[in-house]
Amino acid sequence: MAAIRMDGKALAAKCKETIAQEAAALERKPGLAVIIVGDDPASRVYVNSKRRDCEECGFYSEEYALLDGTPQQELIELIELLNGREDIDGILVQLPLPKGYNEEEVLLAIHPDKDVDSFHPQNVGALTIGRPVFLPCTPAGVMEMLDEYGVDPAGKRCVVVGRSNIVGKPMALLLLHRHGTVTIAHSRTPDLGALTAQADILVSAVGKTGLITADMVKEGAVVIDVAMNRNQEGKLCGDVCFDQVAEKASFITPVPGGVGPMTRAMLMRNTLEAAKLHQGVK
Ligand code: NAP
Repeated sequence: MAAIRMDGKALAAKCKETIAQEAAALERKPGLAVIIVGDDPASRVYVNSKRRDCEECGFYSEEYALLDGTPQQELIELIELLNGREDIDGILVQLPLPKGYNEEEVLLAIHPDKDVDSFHPQNVGALTIGRPVFLPCTPAGVMEMLDEYGVDPAGKRCVVVGRSNIVGKPMALLLLHRHGTVTIAHSRTPDLGALTAQADILVSAVGKTGLITADMVKEGAVVIDVAMNRNQEGKLCGDVCFDQVAEKASFITPVPGGVGPMTRAMLMRNTLEAAKLHQGVK
């Protein structure tokens, strides 16, 4: 069976259209401030695309490019300044920060109401008890795709490979909140293939090209590839061996064009939600 390709690019465009319409109805434009430290080329690409997303959604955006070596205290003071600005609804610090910065301390400085990446412990706690203010962008994007393609996690066996705070853990929580029976696998999980082969919904968020092969996937499974790796030719690819797994799965996300664009769309949605929160709009 050839799987249906879940088109994250098209769905993200649709989401952004809806977000733009809602933003246009607000009294004040949603505002996003993006801070980048250093000159990592991949981070620069991400920051540029966030600026374009803001333009598409009709948001106000500001970018702060700080030199690597800027004292952490200066970075925190900038965040505190932005915390107090009425025209800024969301603050995003592009990760990873260069060596020498304490990411945890920096992220903690962002006010939870402006934490559109949803990394602040207050927002992580709210998500854990099922009362999130902002949904973490990548897992939220995956859930949107499942909904769009009519995949209901309720009662399904879900396996999430990867347990990072950014992807794996919140992904597992969102599936759990939608009544999936969830298992999280990681680098110490023995016989990964035996576990993943039981999954009705398999989410891979590891960062290892070729990790998920067809023999590790159940016939008819829904396969979500979160990873963004570079293969030997330097091309963007995921963890999943796409061609062989697509022969077995019922639905599959491509890389690129799957989860990545949805992550960006969900950042725009969180910024819109923050703006509504700050303007007292339900
Ligand atoms: P991370 O923090 O490096 O976490 C990777 C996870 O994979 C860890 O939990 C690790 O286990 C686990 N792992 C490593 N080797 C494994 C193996 N052989 N078998 C099973 N599990 C293994 O990475 P991340 O930030 O979660 O990102 C994961 C991937 O998603 C990366 O490719 C990243 O670029 C991509 N990503 C994509 C988006 C998007 O928008 N599409 C967003 C964020 C991240 P341990 O905990 O035991 O070390």
